[in-house]
Amino acid sequence: MGLKEYREKRHFGLTPEPAGKLGKARHPSRIFVVQKHRATQLHYDFRLEWNGTLLSWAVPKGPSLDPTVKRLAMQVEDHPIEYANFEGVIPAGEYGGGTVMVWDKGTWEPEQPDPQAALEKGDLKFTLHGKKLKGSWVLVRTRGFGGGSKPSWLLIKHRDEYASTEDITEKEPRSAISRRFLADIARVNGGNIEQAATGDPVDAPKPRNTTAKLTKSVKPAKPAPRASVRKRRA
Ligand code: MN
Repeated sequence: MGLKEYREKRHFGLTPEPAGKLGKARHPSRIFVVQKHRATQLHYDFRLEWNGTLLSWAVPKGPSLDPTVKRLAMQVEDHPIEYANFEGVIPAGEYGGGTVMVWDKGTWEPEQPDPQAALEKGDLKFTLHGKKLKGSWVLVRTRGFGGGSKPSWLLIKHRDEYASTEDITEKEPRSAISRRFLADIARVNGGNIEQAATGDPVDAPKPRNTTAKLTKSVKPAKPAPRASVRKRRA
């Protein structure tokens, strides 16, 4: 798909996100990244390197290690490969405005001989080698969810030794590259600390140099929106 849509949505004079360029198709260690993004609503952006870009899905509830749980994953525009290192603040009013954390990062391998055909068919099986997410997964395209221009998929863990009923997003709330919470990332980058903190655990340490007022007003994260809510998320 290229990066046309990605670039059209952003003002690179205003946002610190990379404008990016099309990467070369690299083999065999393709990267994957999951970015925790406290925008209008908290979600997790799941990205797989493929043909020089990052195929991208917004996962409102984030990945689950429980094979009985299917997580809605709305496909969004391809992102540049260098986006995988972006942890910071997108200014308010810009596309996807809010705080971004690199929640997990690593490499992935397709489990099918022809991943391009698998993607087109809407049934991509793959293995993740991340810090938090490991083992076998599938992305399945669905009908019936989402009214947007991009299709909806389901992200599902396969049964293997990495499957678990433990809530990985609760257990591992910190950045995979900096160990920071969202509120710390917002503080360092001049973002909205209070808003970012709503994506952190309620008992997370509060960032330094903040006031007592902030500590009082920090609220637990809102429950993720239901799958039937038809909203476009950045
Ligand atoms: Mn996002």
